[in-house]
Amino acid sequence: MIKLRIGHLYPKLLNIYGDGGNIITLKKRAEWRGIEVEVHEINPGDVWLGEHDIYFIGGGQDQQQIQVSYELNRHKEFMTSERDRGAVFLGICGGYQLLGHYYLPAEGDKLMGISLLDAFTIAGKRRFIGNVTVKTEYDFSPYLVGFENHSGQTYLQGDTKPIGNVVVGNGNNGQDITEGARYKNVFGTYMHGSFLPKNPKFADYLLELAVGQKLEPLDDKIENNAHDALINKPY
Ligand code: GLN
Repeated sequence: MIKLRIGHLYPKLLNIYGDGGNIITLKKRAEWRGIEVEVHEINPGDVWLGEHDIYFIGGGQDQQQIQVSYELNRHKEFMTSERDRGAVFLGICGGYQLLGHYYLPAEGDKLMGISLLDAFTIAGKRRFIGNVTVKTEYDFSPYLVGFENHSGQTYLQGDTKPIGNVVVGNGNNGQDITEGARYKNVFGTYMHGSFLPKNPKFADYLLELAVGQKLEPLDDKIENNAHDALINKPY
């Protein structure tokens, strides 16, 4: 039997927008295929339990990101080696920002990220709040949908590429129409919602990257109806 190990990073600090729903989606969609799943919640002070197949880090407020920035950088070398051996990462909003080089909030010091993505974030004067639709190059999921709530504006560099372009909403920075980021198997997005329940095919894409094989399709009629109803929906 395949076993999938999911590391949920700092859920006690970064889960203000219900991003824990992404963990539930990954877990259930794997179990529905007969995959044994272990989810390890990793909070400040916890002993790290070695390698995982998927790491998830959710969104949160600037204040909580300060502590998470410190904690993540204690494990920067290990997380970089995990990225380079092909582990899957998904960071949402505040968690996404800390997978880059840094997040400079409107007030206070620059919060250092762990540079798994070649990206940086600077707080803007506007707060981006609302529905998001992203046009992707993924034939299995030409659109991704979610909800954004951030003041950070993220800029991508080098080999870190967006996961798509916004057709509704602001995306990474409200200027270059990009949304999200990917480098190797590290993904970031500003889409809350939760993100994966609304984008089941993308959830399966991450699972297949993590287990290293194609998965049998599920009966996603309800999930796909929910997904499709949100495409191009401005509010
Ligand atoms: N505090 C960060 C910002 O405002 C991230 C917010 C979030 O995770 N939704 O950009």
